Amino acid sequence: MKNYRPTHECGVFAVFGHPDAAVLTYYGLYALQHRGQESAGIVTASGPNTPFLRHVNMGLVSQVFSNSDLDRLKGTRAVGHVRYSTSGSSNLVNAQPFVVNTARGQIAIAHNGNLVNASLLRDELEEQGSIFQTSVDSEVILHLLAQPASPEGVFSALRKVHGAFSLVLMSEREVIGVRDPFGFRPLAIGKLDGAWVLSSETCAFDLIHAEFVRDVEPGEVVIIDENGIRSEWPFSAERKAFCIFEYVYFARPDSIISDINVARVRTEMGRELARLHPVEADVVVPVPDSGNYAALGMAEELNIPYRHAFVRNHYIGRTFLQPSQLIRDFTVRVKLNLIKEAVEGKRVVVVDDSIVRGTTARARVVNLREAGAKEVHMRISCPPHRHSCFYGIDFPDPEKLLANQMTLDQIRDYLGCDSIGYLDVPSMVRATGQKENQFCLACFNADYPVAVDPNLDKHVMERRSNRPNLLGSAPVSPSLFSQRP
Ligand code: AMP
Repeated sequence: MKNYRPTHECGVFAVFGHPDAAVLTYYGLYALQHRGQESAGIVTASGPNTPFLRHVNMGLVSQVFSNSDLDRLKGTRAVGHVRYSTSGSSNLVNAQPFVVNTARGQIAIAHNGNLVNASLLRDELEEQGSIFQTSVDSEVILHLLAQPASPEGVFSALRKVHGAFSLVLMSEREVIGVRDPFGFRPLAIGKLDGAWVLSSETCAFDLIHAEFVRDVEPGEVVIIDENGIRSEWPFSAERKAFCIFEYVYFARPDSIISDINVARVRTEMGRELARLHPVEADVVVPVPDSGNYAALGMAEELNIPYRHAFVRNHYIGRTFLQPSQLIRDFTVRVKLNLIKEAVEGKRVVVVDDSIVRGTTARARVVNLREAGAKEVHMRISCPPHRHSCFYGIDFPDPEKLLANQMTLDQIRDYLGCDSIGYLDVPSMVRATGQKENQFCLACFNADYPVAVDPNLDKHVMERRSNRPNLLGSAPVSPSLFSQRP
């Protein structure tokens, strides 16, 4: 069995029915840049029997597209993708959206998430003659979709893939949004001048002045064509398992997910943290930008002044993308500098959203001590990370996760702080205003909603859900993957 490179954190965007589809997608991807900085791509289409146009490259959205690239991407429909993946070497061939020519016409796909049975499916498909172009798990979906049409072709293909997938697909007739039945990753629907847009996060709608309509529901497939938008529910109903780490860290603070603003959740997490681990101190300082909102909530709740004492150099890439420990340490130091007078002689509470390897937290404590802080109290607005994520967040192996290797006392000593306090699962969940059983918490509690070893994967999504359509009744067989006339 071959090893697949997971798709990991990514952003997807799509437009149907707008003369400037490529430009809108470009701005949409711009707003989703935090979800992936490795590569970016857009595919556009004008309608049946006209070739899809594609431009993808390595780099940031602003580096990948020139005005002439966007001019060339004609069409009223588009799908776009930004990719984060950190595992293995960067490779243009893995940049999305992917496009294939099939018996059902051209299909483009962009995927956010991570499939847990990709290797198994790939082996099966290769035995049947499929030739794979990339090493990315998303290509499996494309091959399944490209298989000869069956009455329920699209849906039976989608039911075969297990794991986390928020997808945008484009055929010659339709743009389609798909959210896996657990709803691990976000996907939202917007509207602009009569056109429909889909985006990983609602912050992209604000940028292009689109109106946020609603989230794509877990297990929902939205099909957008000349007749409008409709929903299908091809998966068996599952418990919801939205990744709570999207609220904690990954999503942009100005996005709305499940009807609640991400910044509000983060601020509330800070309040919860203050109640769970109160501390007498003179000043609350965030680790920018990830700790900003939690620190604010904590400062308000403790009634202690909030000081933006760390100054960030914005022209450095994410430390996480650096390959070696040597460079990572260097980057962490070069990224933030301290305003000494804000902390000198003070009892400081320093707040970040999470500790992964501990590199960032340790460096912050060193910075604070060097600047003369009298006491340093570390507060983290999520529980200790002890387990891997198999659904699209890139964490290192468990033996590199600090909290997997050390007790809380050991962590405190390793970081060199006077005290440490993490949020616990109930308080974190309370901050979202939702219920614990709505979330995937696997990186904290190892409760994996979808079996991760493909050989153990007993998840057969055969039963068709009886859930009603939200957007009107749907034709029985979507035209997307019927045979070319
Ligand atoms: P570390 O230095 O390894 O402990 O990483 C912790 C820092 O990385 C925190 O400031 C987090 O906001 C940030 N972080 C947490 N998870 C991720 C992730 N999956 N990718 C990139 N950065 C992350």
